Amino acid sequence: MSEFKIIQDYFSWPQPDSQISVANGDDAAVFSLRAGEELAVSVDTSIAGVHFPHATPAAAIGHKALAVNLSDMAAMGAQPRWFTLALTLPEAEHDWLKAFSGGLKALADQHHISLIGGDTTRGPLSITIQIMGTLPKGSALRRSGALPNDLICVTGTPGDAAAGLACLQGRLQLPLPEQTYCIERLNYPSPRLAFGRNIRQHAHSCIDISDGLMADLQHILAQSGVAATLLTEQIPVSPALSTLPADQRRTLALAGGDDYELLLTLPPEKLDALHAVANATQTAVSVIGHIQPATAQTPSLSLIPAEMATLPENNIQGFNHFTASKPV
Ligand code: ADP
Ligand code: MG
Repeated sequence: MSEFKIIQDYFSWPQPDSQISVANGDDAAVFSLRAGEELAVSVDTSIAGVHFPHATPAAAIGHKALAVNLSDMAAMGAQPRWFTLALTLPEAEHDWLKAFSGGLKALADQHHISLIGGDTTRGPLSITIQIMGTLPKGSALRRSGALPNDLICVTGTPGDAAAGLACLQGRLQLPLPEQTYCIERLNYPSPRLAFGRNIRQHAHSCIDISDGLMADLQHILAQSGVAATLLTEQIPVSPALSTLPADQRRTLALAGGDDYELLLTLPPEKLDALHAVANATQTAVSVIGHIQPATAQTPSLSLIPAEMATLPENNIQGFNHFTASKPV
């Protein structure tokens, strides 16, 4: 199968979008922005054996490669619109390409976004997606806006995806239905787009949880110049993990990556607005701590009950490609 046949058969589909003037097939795509719109752009690479186990189903690889990018749009409060796909494949295999492009397209269609170009090459399996979204000018939800007294909130039940990976790697045993649920959360994350867009006007700061709740919260703290206390018993745990010992549940929730939930801060007077947005977008959300002023005497992140010492150092830092051994 030639590169052109692959593109034509699997990655060309109608793009009904009046802002696109040149869709894929030319040397570059061309689209226009409306007055008052700003562009949010992000790129993420998924590599077999690094970001997903080699045995991951092709449909899940397609879904997740796009989902992680959509999650960045959610964290900015942006409306995703267009994406490009740079795909490196060891070989052109029909069943794999059909399932991969099917998983990708299903999620793209769900969010009404258009594939406007890409590149197709041969080599070890790697998927790079660049996503572009729009925002009203000046309204992006940043990591740097957290203020003392803000409440720290999280969507969903962090830890499920890490439990799924631990099950696949034989590091954790769960009953079959719970294991299936956690692996589904690992393979098919649901980016919190509607929630992100609707909370944009109320929140002070936001980040999506890709590396782990504590590690990603540290990014908000560093960029905002504040400290925080997490009430670890308030972190919601899914029923799938409820049979695990409390410390194991909490470690998964605090340090497990790959959840693509949103972590945000907002002032206490916005609590009603938070619950209204959660209801309107059918997104579970929990208040799990608060922001404090940074001082030289206190650590930037305190846990109640104190248990930092029970978490290995690399769990607190989150996953780092250049210091960790191979993760999957
Ligand atoms: P060139 O090498 O001249 O840039 P390519 O042969 O790489 O052209 O691509 C031809 C067209 O197909 C371009 O419009 C490109 O954006 C698009 N394209 C290539 N690969 C993909 C892909 N995986 N998904 C979607 N569009 C693609
Ligand atoms: Mg090219």
